[in-house]
Amino acid sequence: MSSITEQLCLPGEAAKPDRSGAAKLALGLTASEFDALPSTKGDAVAYRDLFAPHRDLPRKLQRWAQANSLALRSLTILNRDRGSMSEKFLFGLPDGYAVESVLIRRRDGYTACVSSQVGCAFACRFCASGQAGLKRNLAAAEIVEQVVQLGPKVNRIVFMGIGEPLNNYGNVLRAIRILRDRRGMDFPTTGITISSIGIPKALRDLREEHLGINLTISLHATTQEVRAKLIPGAKKHELSQVVQAALSWARRHNRTVTFVYLLLPGVNDSVEDAQRLVAMFADTPARLNLMRWNPVDSIDFGRTSDRTLQLFKSRLERAGVPVVVRDTQGMDIDAACGQLWLRDLRGGRALAASASVATAKAI
Ligand code: SF4
Repeated sequence: MSSITEQLCLPGEAAKPDRSGAAKLALGLTASEFDALPSTKGDAVAYRDLFAPHRDLPRKLQRWAQANSLALRSLTILNRDRGSMSEKFLFGLPDGYAVESVLIRRRDGYTACVSSQVGCAFACRFCASGQAGLKRNLAAAEIVEQVVQLGPKVNRIVFMGIGEPLNNYGNVLRAIRILRDRRGMDFPTTGITISSIGIPKALRDLREEHLGINLTISLHATTQEVRAKLIPGAKKHELSQVVQAALSWARRHNRTVTFVYLLLPGVNDSVEDAQRLVAMFADTPARLNLMRWNPVDSIDFGRTSDRTLQLFKSRLERAGVPVVVRDTQGMDIDAACGQLWLRDLRGGRALAASASVATAKAI
């Protein structure tokens, strides 16, 4: 667990400092850690109370937090952008950065698309979130709080916001355990999806976890060379190892793993690419989601035509690979996959000093 990130200040409330001089966050407590805290006289606070969705938290909860030197909340909503099917939240962090999360309306409920890191080290050429590099991991409490603040109607969570969740393995897994605890939010684990670039070692660790979550791997290329150019941070991860580790997770848990493939014209949409995908995934517990690129300022890729998309899809279908085309929600408010930016507290985009324009030609 990160000690620095668990020690953030609560806006609007003076939580007492702990021995290291900073406040700890109540939403990062597991139920057993909660039980181990000294009780507060006259205040009957239950673990479930920590996850109250309302902004004005009950007095008894505030007293309990103060007595235990805990901060109840740490994220400040700086902005909300409403779109037709989604709403983008800008959450200010106490260290001057702000991360974006998205609430997506579905027919049968709401999905919270949450961030797992402040920035991202993987610097995918097609994604806004990695443009500023990685600043730090989000604490488990900060991940849980995004879900709490997005509201009680949330019945699915996807780790598809800013950051690579398996690059913040400990805090993400801790957040999932807190979210699913029956005494707390009691969130169904089957409603949680980790979406990852696929770090082989972390996938091997995830294989051994007893968690009924869903797993999505961003593949985006069929050769090591193209993948290393599209996802510079993953160049040391052998493509074959990523695929094997994800399939091994699926077999171990008797599940299907979803591979996301962003079709980029002239980069990864050839007949040979389709053939290599068939060779990788025919007769495996995998399904493919084909996606179009969602435009990002200062990044110059094209969007695949419907015709190319359908041709590519039918080549896979004919070979018996389960495949669907997925368009993500939120383009009307720049909240679709790959469009979330790390920001400052005024909403400005955080950029790395040497931000460069990525183009299909350069790949
Ligand atoms: S796609 Fe995911 S891993 Fe790649 S830069 Fe964006 S947030 Fe990071």
